[in-house]
Amino acid sequence: MSTRPVGDHGSGAIVRRATASLLGLAVGDALGATTEFMKPEDIRRQYGVHERIRGGGWLNLPPGRVTDDTEMSQCVARAILAKGGWDLAAVAEEFARWLRGNPVDVGSTCRRGIRDYILKRQLSTPPNEWDAGNGAAMRVAPVALFALGDEELLARLAVEQARLTHNHPLSDASCVTVARMVHRGILGTPMAGLRAAAEELAGRHPEFRFERYEGNATAYVADTLRTVFHDFFSTRTFEECLVRIVNRGGDADTAGAIAGAVAGAHYGLEAIPRRWLVALDPAVRKELTEAAKKLVRLSPLFRGARRQAGKTR
Ligand code: MN
Ligand code: MN
Repeated sequence: MSTRPVGDHGSGAIVRRATASLLGLAVGDALGATTEFMKPEDIRRQYGVHERIRGGGWLNLPPGRVTDDTEMSQCVARAILAKGGWDLAAVAEEFARWLRGNPVDVGSTCRRGIRDYILKRQLSTPPNEWDAGNGAAMRVAPVALFALGDEELLARLAVEQARLTHNHPLSDASCVTVARMVHRGILGTPMAGLRAAAEELAGRHPEFRFERYEGNATAYVADTLRTVFHDFFSTRTFEECLVRIVNRGGDADTAGAIAGAVAGAHYGLEAIPRRWLVALDPAVRKELTEAAKKLVRLSPLFRGARRQAGKTR
């Protein structure tokens, strides 16, 4: 698959779509945190249609507050930016620092992996049949920005960051696919190219088939991605996709975060409703906006472009 950008591919447009991916992730997390673990009928009874960043939820969050999905993505981004490149131990250190800071939420598989890093300096958790949760896929977006222009590098780093906490073929495959969709979206690849990535995954692992959808929006990564695929491919705007997904409840913040990263990359910054962007925690909004720009500048696509420009001089 060529990674050459198509369509609107000026560097400004790429940076804006990269920014939309990270802000989309945070918006999806902040929206979905309200309805995480709820049933669709309870959401309907309580909110009608939930479409406002209003906080609350089982974590009783202030409006605009994000959870582990965004925070662990921030950790991945911070580690890359601090080192000016990829350093898995630096990512593990950021996770450790985050865990010691008493985060508002942390999944049990993530907690175990980070604890094992702290105690044993372990950078790859052993294979485990219970590691097919969505905790590694939810934080993979920054890798897609940093690996822009190189899908092989992207696949390797997506799995490396995953194995810090999750070691399962379905988690690995999910991380690569989500990163690939974000990557293609940022490059301006048409929707069919994003769909091809999802279909390729479903071809290899039938657990991810998404033509029919039974509504299981759980934290099992195949359920999460089927929900994301179904809602992303059956809606036509960022807003419609996100509203649909967070009103399903279940693991709503994580499904919202992944859908937000993919849909943000595809639809771009202008497509994210302003009311959601302004409601987002300003510190998170600022950090992610700056990180997006810096990650893209470190990517092979941009470094390659600079090399090319250097040669002509
Ligand atoms: Mn969360
Ligand atoms: Mn969640």
